[in-house]
Amino acid sequence: MIALQELTEELVTANHVLAHERVVDSFGHVSARHPEKPDRYLLSRARAPQLAEIGDIMEFTLDGKVVGAEPGKPYSERFIHGAIYEARPDVMAAVHNHSPNVVPFTVTKQKMRPIMHMCGPIGSEIPNWDIRNKFGDTNLLVTSMEMGRDFAKTLGPHTVALMRGHGSTVVGRSVREVVFTSVYMELNAEMLIKALAMGEVTYLSDGEIAAITKGRAGFTFERGWENWCHRVGRPFIPRDKTMGEGFSKTDT
Ligand SMILES: [Zn+2]
Repeated sequence: MIALQELTEELVTANHVLAHERVVDSFGHVSARHPEKPDRYLLSRARAPQLAEIGDIMEFTLDGKVVGAEPGKPYSERFIHGAIYEARPDVMAAVHNHSPNVVPFTVTKQKMRPIMHMCGPIGSEIPNWDIRNKFGDTNLLVTSMEMGRDFAKTLGPHTVALMRGHGSTVVGRSVREVVFTSVYMELNAEMLIKALAMGEVTYLSDGEIAAITKGRAGFTFERGWENWCHRVGRPFIPRDKTMGEGFSKTDT
């Protein structure tokens, strides 16, 4: 199990990487479930992810109450994270983002679906949550547990759910996995918009998506993580013991 200190460092790195890779800008956030207390999660205080530091990482109960140190104002949308951890015991990390190429898919009938092998794990079915269905006209922000739980219901067992007129939220079994999926989600959206402009698109099949997702090994995450750490000047701590010994089916 990853130690709290190590996870906190990793969360800071994840903030910087997601900003560098255009998944988040001044807004958006990444959280991790507490490694020792599954009913708590870790999330930066409300500031631009690129600027997040160790001292900014705060601890929350699943219903969004601050535990311990409070270095600043918490994100008003932290309820997205707590509601997901409450509903999905398998989820260890979550990224909420407004990544620019994804948003068009939240406001049109155009389906988001993977078109390139690295993007397969975003899943064959990506639901689109509309806050207006239950809460009427709002500022579209998820600012209560009731809203967070409604979103988590739409997310269901999926890896990604879109949020109409807002962005999306991605979940994973580790910080490295959720960062990886989030980066490739934004890339898939960018490539898909280009492909749609050129003509009819051939999407990955359900079978291909299942094969890619099953074959994605720790090495894949490590390879991306090492590169992204380098780009943002953060230390890379190898975790996968198979690093350098073999390639998963999705590595090229
Ligand atoms: Zn948001």
